[in-house]
Formats: sequence, structure tokens, C-alpha cells
Amino acid sequence: MLLPALRFSHQLLKEIVSEGDHVIDATMGNGNDTLFLAELVGSTGHVYAFDIQEQAVENTRKKLADYTDRSTLFLAGHETIEEKIASDQPIRAAIFNLGYLPKSDKQIVTLPETTKQAMTAILKRLSVGGRMIVVIYYGHEGGETEKNEVLNFCQNLPQEKFSVLNYQFINQKNNPPILLCVEALNH
Ligand code: SAM
Repeated sequence: MLLPALRFSHQLLKEIVSEGDHVIDATMGNGNDTLFLAELVGSTGHVYAFDIQEQAVENTRKKLADYTDRSTLFLAGHETIEEKIASDQPIRAAIFNLGYLPKSDKQIVTLPETTKQAMTAILKRLSVGGRMIVVIYYGHEGGETEKNEVLNFCQNLPQEKFSVLNYQFINQKNNPPILLCVEALNH
């Protein structure tokens, strides 16, 4: 069966993340991806997670109670990745789930400019074979603009440096999410 975006994103991460890797959850939310990543990197790896909502960080902190040593949860926007993570720290994988946190304030959404800033900081640090996954939910106000800007950003990445995959069920109703996977090549 073709995997839904969420399950496919986890498969793409699982294929390349190993014990000891450093990874980023750029949109922590309730911490589901943060927990998944913490399990993949093991006790010698590290997950850096970002969110601008206190509730998100609190929910994630509870979920990661067994993994405090291998995770850093920032109550800060992903646009601060450049200052929070050393420029020489290789990053094996990163994930974004754009849009708003389900069952929460729908006005608090990711924004095109800060998303692009974060993607730029991540791509600078991505190790060869590493992947940046961006799942775009765009049914909300402003979502269409963000979708177009993120697609445009990824479409224009140089093909000698990155492979970019676009995965979407194109016959589904109600704005099915778009999953982009950017893989760093050996150049
Ligand atoms: N992956 C999450 C999970 O497993 O629950 C869901 C993420 S939800 C679709 C999007 C999240 O992005 C929201 O929690 C929102 O607060 C957060 N967000 C919005 N702007 C942000 C920013 N500039 N930096 C980091 N997170 C941001």
C-alpha cells in the first residue's frame, strides 16, 4: 500500500538515521516526530527540536521524559537554528510539518520567510546522504503562499548538490499534504 505522508516521512527518516546521529525536529508540536527521532538516534545521538508555543514544548517534554539526555527542546522559532546549532555540527536529518498544531490555535502557523531561513540553515549542515523532509499542510489562510514559496525554494536547489522528491496523492480532496524530501548528494 502507498504510505500516507506521515508514515512515509518516518520511513524516509528510518532509512538513513542511525545511532549517534544529530537530527532536527523543526516543528515540535506534540512531539510525535521528536520522540520518533530520539528513538532512532539512540543514547549517543541528539535531537534538537523547535517550537514557538509553550504548550508544544511542555507536551513534548512529557513525551520525551525517558530521553532528556539525548534531546534539546527550544521554545524558539526554527529561524534561530543558525544561532542555536554550531555551523560545523553535521545534521543527518530534519523534519518540518508546516501549518498549525491540530486542536490548537489555528492562527499560530509556520510562515514562508522563517521556514526558508530554517531550511537554508539546515541544508548548510546536512551530511552527505542526509535528508530534510518538509510536509506541507496548506489548507489554512496563508498556507497556499507558504506552499508555493517552499516548493519554489526546493525546486531551485542545484541538482548537483541535492535530489528533491515531491510525494502527494493528487486525486484526494481537501488539500492533501505534500511531502518534499531533499537529500544531500556527494559533490
Ligand atoms: N510534528 C508535530 C507533531 O508531531 O505534533 C506537528 C507540528 S504542527 C503541524 C506545526 C507546529 O509548528 C505548531 O506546533 C506551531 O506552533 C509550530 N511553529 C509555528 N511557527 C514556528 C516557527 N517559526 N518555528 C518552530 N515552530 C513553529
